Amino acid sequence: MARARIPLPILVLIAFLLTATAGQAQSVPTSPQYPSTANPSLSQIQIDALGWLQGLLRIDTTNPPGNELVAAKYIAAILTKEGIPSEIFESTPGRGFIVARLSSGSLPDSSRALLLMAHLDVVGVDKSKWTEDPFAATIKDGYLYGRGAVDDKGMLAANLAVFIELKRSGAHLNRDVIFLAEGDEEAYGTTGMLFAVDKHWDKIAAGYAINEGGGVFLTGGKPQYIGVQVSEKVPANVDVIAKGTSGHASMPRKDNPVVHLSAAIEKIGNYEAPVQFNSITRAYFQALAPLQDEETAKWMRSLDTSDRGEHAARVISNQSPAWNAMLHDTATPTVLRAGIRANVIPSEARATINVRLLPGNQLAPLLAKLQQLVSDPAIQFEPQLPLSETAPSSSLTSDFYNTITRVTAKSYPGAPVVPLMSTYFTDSTPLRLRNVQAYGLIPFPLNDDDMSRFHADNERIPLDSFHKGIEFLFAIVNDFSVTK
Ligand SMILES: [Zn+2]
Repeated sequence: MARARIPLPILVLIAFLLTATAGQAQSVPTSPQYPSTANPSLSQIQIDALGWLQGLLRIDTTNPPGNELVAAKYIAAILTKEGIPSEIFESTPGRGFIVARLSSGSLPDSSRALLLMAHLDVVGVDKSKWTEDPFAATIKDGYLYGRGAVDDKGMLAANLAVFIELKRSGAHLNRDVIFLAEGDEEAYGTTGMLFAVDKHWDKIAAGYAINEGGGVFLTGGKPQYIGVQVSEKVPANVDVIAKGTSGHASMPRKDNPVVHLSAAIEKIGNYEAPVQFNSITRAYFQALAPLQDEETAKWMRSLDTSDRGEHAARVISNQSPAWNAMLHDTATPTVLRAGIRANVIPSEARATINVRLLPGNQLAPLLAKLQQLVSDPAIQFEPQLPLSETAPSSSLTSDFYNTITRVTAKSYPGAPVVPLMSTYFTDSTPLRLRNVQAYGLIPFPLNDDDMSRFHADNERIPLDSFHKGIEFLFAIVNDFSVTK
């Protein structure tokens, strides 16, 4: 009976990272930053994982077009070297997913299986705004830079490391552990997760999953809480269209669609939907209140009261865009399109609003409300298809959630586990629609600055967080899947 563990004296690691990586930049393809002999406190798998992450960051999987299969093949080669067979499924040329399995026995029970999942694609970059090449995987001052360092290749490399460590250590599994790296997450998953779920469910069927979303939230260098994403808001894009008569700009017209659209967008942008709670946001604010200053805590605790709730929601919403978005449906104008020449009045002007609905809410009533608010017959609302579905929340009492809570208490004593409803969507939705208990937990301790960089310029992951994240994720998976 093998028992797998990653020993890691944290302090030695931090001291090492502070001294050894300061000011260093490197660009050697796929080689890890330091040899194992340089830092005995790092386990071999942590050293290997950094090299794999660098390799993944150097493969440009910007979506569109994605080209995820280049990265999938890179992973397949790593797995082959470890003696683990994998399968790649192509949805459209160059796109799809890779899956591999460590079996617990000859009779697989998918209801017990654990799925480790992450996505291969990344969002685009504005290279001119980056201080480092976003696809060079440069290490500098203790950080690894690259598009996808946090979202989501960091987690991908951590999943891969945990998966391979289970194999290397000969762990005695009590459930199947499945590794999945899919694509197209950043564009609704049609050629990635939806393809995997619809066409190859037998390959990934599981009772439990761990995915991106959530995280280990650092404040003042200390883990303040561990957010576990169990639910998510539902996205929809809606075009707002103004129609009028085209003509010469020297003779302005009352039905100029640019003017009508502008007025409509101003009203939509300032609209505030009613405050709504669900069991997850209730639990979230309850768990978060004790970690706040007295004043914020007071208003957080008042959120769900009849007498002070309204004022409390205003105070809390004004403190943080994320909290605001957790309490309301939102409709955010993001794109404007109108006009072809300075001297031509166009016959049409268009905007796109990005809607995020609280789970269970429907789009139609919100659009009816906006239509009423805009109150202009020249304006039409046109939802873009496909519309997403609401999935049930993952359970806060499942075996896996209990494992996460138990391991967190050991790894981060004093930092509570807080259930989250994310304001963004993830590939956990199609899993939850199939009754998988999917949990979002990016395992790396990250502060606000680190978090603010994904989908933004200069995305990077602190090296010590990457290594700690692997250790934390391994502890969770090991506790849940390995017979001691
Ligand atoms: Zn992501």
